[in-house]
Amino acid sequence: MSKRTEISELGEFGLIERLRGSIQTYHASTVRGIGDDAAVIDAGDTYRVVTTDLLVEGVHFDLAYCPLKHLGFKAVAVNVSDIAAMNAIPKELTVSIALSNRFSVEAVEELYEGIRVAAQHYKVDVVGGDTTASRSGLVISVTAMGEVEKARIAYRSGAEVNDILCVTGDLGGALMGLQVLEREKQVFLANPAMRPDLEKYPYITGRQLRPDARMDIVHELRDLGVVPTSMMDISDGLASELFHISKASGVGMTIYEDKLPIDKETYDAAVEFNMDPITAVLNGGEDYELLFTISQSDFSKLEKHPDVHFIGHITKEEEGKFLVTKSGTAVPLKAQGWKHF
Ligand SMILES: [Mg+2]
Repeated sequence: MSKRTEISELGEFGLIERLRGSIQTYHASTVRGIGDDAAVIDAGDTYRVVTTDLLVEGVHFDLAYCPLKHLGFKAVAVNVSDIAAMNAIPKELTVSIALSNRFSVEAVEELYEGIRVAAQHYKVDVVGGDTTASRSGLVISVTAMGEVEKARIAYRSGAEVNDILCVTGDLGGALMGLQVLEREKQVFLANPAMRPDLEKYPYITGRQLRPDARMDIVHELRDLGVVPTSMMDISDGLASELFHISKASGVGMTIYEDKLPIDKETYDAAVEFNMDPITAVLNGGEDYELLFTISQSDFSKLEKHPDVHFIGHITKEEEGKFLVTKSGTAVPLKAQGWKHF
């Protein structure tokens, strides 16, 4: 009898590693395949980048509190975020959906309105897709394609010793937003007469329901003449992404707790939910901010940027990965990540 392995034994990344092992590439134009935020294809003067994401009802979203229009926007934004993570500009999208007869034509139009608004926001062309029936719930698959000058591509693998680790925006908000939405859903299920109390946390619930890809940062880096030495987007939590940069680049790193960006609303919600705010920052998923490294020589170009935070630096691989706490103690970084399996 052949052995049965549970997917949960491998986890998402272990599963990807295992499947990737059997894949061969046949074309010299395939510069990078599986293993970065997007695949990279040599298109002559430029690189084309391609990424795809699947959003499944009940796993990635809950229509009890996620409006269809926001969901459409989010489906596009999370893919554009992976294009941004390669330092590339998004150009085209395909959108495929599977839906059950629970959805009306009007509902599908609402979903597409969100997709249309996002396509306009990021200036991408919707060029195709597929629709099919589903036995259970809604599934949305978006594929995004983008373009970048060869000299500007940013992989996860380029970080070098003494480079500065940067993150954009603030972290942990989407996770705490999800906690608030889940709690209000339970309140509503227990007593449908209760109105959900979301007014207290508008920012973090927005972070969860309608994330924005940081294309603004990609354009600003371009204007400032900065090419990150490595980059990825933060979809599974900062700690998990730091491990990816570390592994792909063969480096260690030290980050500082007091440099990690957190919004006051995220902090307050964490306290209310009896969570350590730093746990939300390190392990919260779905913030869709950018994590990147720059050479020290580029620091002065970004030093005054209001939305780029310098959280630490790259060290030799054998020096390990550490978080220096506010009290000055260095503790080994752990990657909990964001597990769907
Ligand atoms: Mg990514």
